[in-house]
Amino acid sequence: MGLLSLGTPLTWEDTKKVASQVRNHGITQFLHTWDRLKDKNGDELLWGDEIEYMVVALDDKTKTAKLSLRQTEILAKLQQIVLNISSETDSSLSIAVPAFHPEYGRYMLESTPGSPFTGSISDLLAVEKDMRFRRSLAREHLKPNEIPLTLTSFPRLGTPGQFTEPYYDPRDAVSSHSLFLPEEITNPHARFPTLTANIRRRRGSKVSINLPIFFDEKTPRPFIDPTIPWDRTIYPEDPEAKNGAALVDHIYLDAMGFGMGCCCLQLTYQACNVTDARRLYDGLIPIGPIMLALTAGSPIWRGYLSDVDCRWNVIAGSVDDRTEEERDLKPLQQDRFKIPKSRYDSVDLYISEDWRNRPEYNDQTLVIDQCIYNRLRQHGIDDLLSKHIAHLFIRDPLVVFSEMIDQDDTTSNDHFENIQSTNWQTLRFKPPPPNSPIGWRVEFRSMEVQMTDYENAAYAVFITLLSRAILSFNLNFYLPISKVDENMARAQGRGASQSEKFYFRKDVYSPGNSPKSSGGSSPVDGPRPKDRKLRNCFPPLEMPENGVPKGPVQEEYEEMSIEEIMNGKGDSYPGLLGLVWAYIDTLDVQGEELSKIHSYLNLIRRRANGSLQTPATWIRNFVRSHPSYAQDSVVTQEINYDLIVAIDEIERGIRPAPDLLPEDYTGGEVDGGTIA
Ligand code: ADP
Ligand code: MG
Ligand code: MG
Ligand code: MG
Ligand code: MG
Ligand code: MG
Repeated sequence: MGLLSLGTPLTWEDTKKVASQVRNHGITQFLHTWDRLKDKNGDELLWGDEIEYMVVALDDKTKTAKLSLRQTEILAKLQQIVLNISSETDSSLSIAVPAFHPEYGRYMLESTPGSPFTGSISDLLAVEKDMRFRRSLAREHLKPNEIPLTLTSFPRLGTPGQFTEPYYDPRDAVSSHSLFLPEEITNPHARFPTLTANIRRRRGSKVSINLPIFFDEKTPRPFIDPTIPWDRTIYPEDPEAKNGAALVDHIYLDAMGFGMGCCCLQLTYQACNVTDARRLYDGLIPIGPIMLALTAGSPIWRGYLSDVDCRWNVIAGSVDDRTEEERDLKPLQQDRFKIPKSRYDSVDLYISEDWRNRPEYNDQTLVIDQCIYNRLRQHGIDDLLSKHIAHLFIRDPLVVFSEMIDQDDTTSNDHFENIQSTNWQTLRFKPPPPNSPIGWRVEFRSMEVQMTDYENAAYAVFITLLSRAILSFNLNFYLPISKVDENMARAQGRGASQSEKFYFRKDVYSPGNSPKSSGGSSPVDGPRPKDRKLRNCFPPLEMPENGVPKGPVQEEYEEMSIEEIMNGKGDSYPGLLGLVWAYIDTLDVQGEELSKIHSYLNLIRRRANGSLQTPATWIRNFVRSHPSYAQDSVVTQEINYDLIVAIDEIERGIRPAPDLLPEDYTGGEVDGGTIA
């Protein structure tokens, strides 16, 4: 989550009154950043991951696995250990002391590397060790029966009875008014209950998410969920479920915690300059849904097998603060805009000024705040970036602390970040923060977290290398935004990585940038010495002098399987893995380093061709082949317990999972990554 300011949060009514003020000052703050740093140039590659964990408490006697709500205590301990290590001046650490952060769920932790990784190849290959070190630090500060699990969604979150340790009754859910989740599921820091309550108040009802149930042999048809307290009358919203919010044949979710309580894997890259950041942002937009399908890891919701494999639409729905007018259920009267999407959703606009970014690709109606757009344009900011910001700023702030309203706009970016960090899209374009050396960054946010750090590292390494291939080969992945949206929808269905096709560009090269002239050696300059590090500053591709013939956009793309998108199709499209290998060919890597990279890319190749399963498929199969499973879509306490234990054992390398992981997977503790 974004910043955690301290102070007194305003109610929704009061937040609404200061919304325009927050937006206007937010824009002023952005303009200060722009003026100071628009010409910042030459920044090295720095990058890092964020991994989210859920802490699960196991009870071997009763065979139950519950979410442990000890986040505050655990983080205090972890922060202490971090302080202790940092103060031992001569401690010869092989890994920088990691950082742990709070997250929405009171059972969640987030870790990031102690300092960002550089472009060195040794850093690239230290990611897994770093991730494992972080996990082992977390594990050391848990109770003996607790484990740090990297699972996207907790299967029994919101089921009747006990799913947290300790137990709390959902009747006390004063922020969300949920039928299923107690107040105590949420991080107690004022920001989180306020976010939860203000989303509900702004929307005018509880959030409402319906996931199609997975119909197994004995699932009742029609499926009318017997675990919903249909007739509860504690909160005014309680009748919503029976008045149409909960759909037949679906799993109904009614609170922010169902989405923001999920874990994911995010990656952030510092770009050479703002132009490259915009190029990389655009390049990664069509990759978002592909990686979502490949990393799919969340097939179980509120104790039921669902017909979806991913968290994305759940989170999108779980923070959907749009009013009925904004959702186009009523004519506009009070509100300013009809808004097609939640503030958590896929990207709506390509923003690069690269000549290959044809206006036709931005083919979705973009809602913008016209006054803000005009203000940005008058300040000299170009059309696309002005639109991007003016689109983010159609939203209201959700949490405002009274102590933070008056700010010095020349030195603070708090109001800007308030809106920016509550627009949760597949990519985030991150301007430099004030008073820091940090540059323009791009965050890749679509992936589901994997159950082992070997897999998390593999995806981190893959996206990092792909980001270099995009920039150094000037790859063109442009595809109409409407098709990217369609891919997002397709990516989340059950088994999508094997059964679906996705729109993808047929020719990723451009005139002046053929496969032969990219990578390897150029005919003019002779062979280039191979790089020992991942570089960051690559010249953009010049537009050919006599222009470029432009055919119909629809002829530029076609539907491909994930296998084709990743591993290549025909003679002209080498696949994302082929492109990554072409980039690796420009690097000086051999021996053990090369075999490590090979192992990671092989995992991804095999996930793409279906010879290894996604976490979602593996989890679904585990449930369906459990001896006590009744073929009725229900994931019982016992099945859940066995599943969680199995995942933990796989992670520790003491249980084989040949359908999920390649033969060379060895789990377990870090070798040598401990504190000296
Ligand atoms: P968020 O706002 O997305 O929650 P976090 O601070 O949790 O951000 O994580 C940001 C990630 O970016 C971390 O992995 C961190 O190592 C990495 N990072 C930090 N500084 C830079 C930088 N200058 N460039 C790129 N990445 C950075
Ligand atoms: Mg996070
Ligand atoms: Mg973070
Ligand atoms: Mg975050
Ligand atoms: Mg953060
Ligand atoms: Mg993040």
